[in-house]
Amino acid sequence: MPKVLLVEDEIPLAEGIEYSLRYEGFETAHASDGLKGLELFRTFEPDLILLDLMLPGRSGLEVCQEIRRESNVPIIILTAKGEEADKVMGLAQGADDYVTKPFSTPELIARVRAVLRRSRSAEPQATESLAYGPLQLNLVSRKLRVEGQPVELTRREFDLLEMFMRHPGRVFTRETLLSRVWGEAEFIDDRTVDVHVRWLRQKIEADPSRPALIQTVRSVGYRFGE
Ligand code: CA
Repeated sequence: MPKVLLVEDEIPLAEGIEYSLRYEGFETAHASDGLKGLELFRTFEPDLILLDLMLPGRSGLEVCQEIRRESNVPIIILTAKGEEADKVMGLAQGADDYVTKPFSTPELIARVRAVLRRSRSAEPQATESLAYGPLQLNLVSRKLRVEGQPVELTRREFDLLEMFMRHPGRVFTRETLLSRVWGEAEFIDDRTVDVHVRWLRQKIEADPSRPALIQTVRSVGYRFGE
């Protein structure tokens, strides 16, 4: 039974979510503030965390940041309409997905299942190559094949594509991609990511003007696949 930790201060909403999750076969734990959430993250050891951003005391973003220092457990943030900036910040702090309130229970459960599925397939394993659609990326020889044909990539293009292919379906902000692929030491700006994505699309997309593999997520960043 997958374990879901819910961090949410609106009690009636939390009860409703917990009830539905249990009905669907999940084991749940609930915290109504950030501090308790962090405590349960360590003791309950959830497979996934549903994290409200507007919490009393420690904010959801701080909780997210703190969890990420210790673990890659999937996190779905719960935001209210009009909290666009928080949503972007949450993804930048390493959240895997977000759901905007008000949401329907089936929608939430579907997201939980999708994120769990993704995180399982991305579990660390001695992978030597990654495959997705027409792409085959060999991590040892650092070579890419598209529809079986070799395609040359620069170091950054390779690292960026590897990041995408390791997390199909995940939304990345430009900030996350910058810090994961370029590191923080270099003097670069957000446009660097856009430029490299454009170059990558030229190399991997059947029609780079209508990308099917690397999709733009408006006002957030990029998503690979799904
Ligand atoms: Ca709240």
